[in-house]
Amino acid sequence: MEKRIYLDNSATTPVRPEVLEAIYPFLKELGGNPSSRHKEGRLVKAAFEKARDSVATAINAESKEVIFTSCATEGNNTVLKGYLSGLRSRTGKNHIITTAVEHPSVLSTARELEKKGTEVTFLPVDKFGRLNLDMLRSSIKENTGLISVMMVNNETGNIYPVKEIAKIAAEKGVLFHIDAVQAIGKIPVDVKDIGCDFLTLTAHKFYGLKGSGALYVKWGKWASPLITGGHQERNRRAGTENVVGAVGLGKAIELAVKEQSEESARLKKLRDHLEKRILEEVPYTRVVGDPGGRASFISNISFRFVEGEAILLKLDYDGIAVSTGSACSSGNLEPSHVISAMKVDPEEAHSSIRFSLGRSTTAEDIDYTVERVKETISQLRSFSPVYDKFLLENEKKSAWRV
Ligand code: PLP
Repeated sequence: MEKRIYLDNSATTPVRPEVLEAIYPFLKELGGNPSSRHKEGRLVKAAFEKARDSVATAINAESKEVIFTSCATEGNNTVLKGYLSGLRSRTGKNHIITTAVEHPSVLSTARELEKKGTEVTFLPVDKFGRLNLDMLRSSIKENTGLISVMMVNNETGNIYPVKEIAKIAAEKGVLFHIDAVQAIGKIPVDVKDIGCDFLTLTAHKFYGLKGSGALYVKWGKWASPLITGGHQERNRRAGTENVVGAVGLGKAIELAVKEQSEESARLKKLRDHLEKRILEEVPYTRVVGDPGGRASFISNISFRFVEGEAILLKLDYDGIAVSTGSACSSGNLEPSHVISAMKVDPEEAHSSIRFSLGRSTTAEDIDYTVERVKETISQLRSFSPVYDKFLLENEKKSAWRV
């Protein structure tokens, strides 16, 4: 098979062998329904509950506080829609606060709620993607019911100060939800230490299966389920359980947390090497994100005068998978909402590439990638009229100075 270098681990990760091994018996022979009272059901139920214990241990929660979901998008929808409808009917609170750089599963849900009459504050970020906590504090009103802020941004790797936010929320009597999808296995996640009320995660970002997630809900903070039907998950999420997904999630989170500190340190070295070489060897490049606080596996770099999509396609041809800061929608290349919220110059915003490292990434992969990036950028710039114009203007300026 063709050798590939996969640097898109923020989008998803491959299933690790230990997870495959753990789920195999549930695919092959253990096919009972966990709600059934017979032996086939009981066997499956025991494995399902063991997986719940693993998730709880990994984030320092109680097992009864973990609800299995189909993905993080469902978890985020459950908190924003389900929680809010319950809260609104009990207390009349109808205002939520979130940020301009959340994942679409939070942002679009908040916009949807806004259309139906919920008041939503989308907090802006500065040019490094950082939040202003004084602004957050002053946005809280009498009718604020919920604050939702992510822990690690999926495009820049920025780490948000969730512990401080939890403190502010608690002081004001507001509930706090964290989208921790990109944080699990990358930085420590301890719901008791943070002091949050809800936290979302998804298995496919840490070598589990796609279509399998979990939602932490602090005991006693429940409102309305998003999916109604049977009595599964203590009436909080109906539907026959995805046992295979949950067993895989349990194994994946166990290993991700166990290996977190060593693996993050390893990836930080590789990420720093990648950035150092690119910034030194490719002119007009810049790291997009918070210089003071980024998770170690993501690097978002802008390459002025070239389109991110063109870089992605050329690197893909060379055997390297990365992603862009642009989303290709209906034929238009729009810069991502995260990069736009950071008020990056539009020309630069179109030129950003996200490299996200993972378990398979080696030092050789990084050096090979840098070489291909150098070649790609120099080729693409040689066809770029914008770059030509820039060089010409610079030449004129230096001639003028002489
Ligand atoms: N939240 C963040 C920060 C993400 O990066 C993603 C996936 O890209 C999601 C939520 C959605 O996860 P899922 O694919 O499990 O719905």
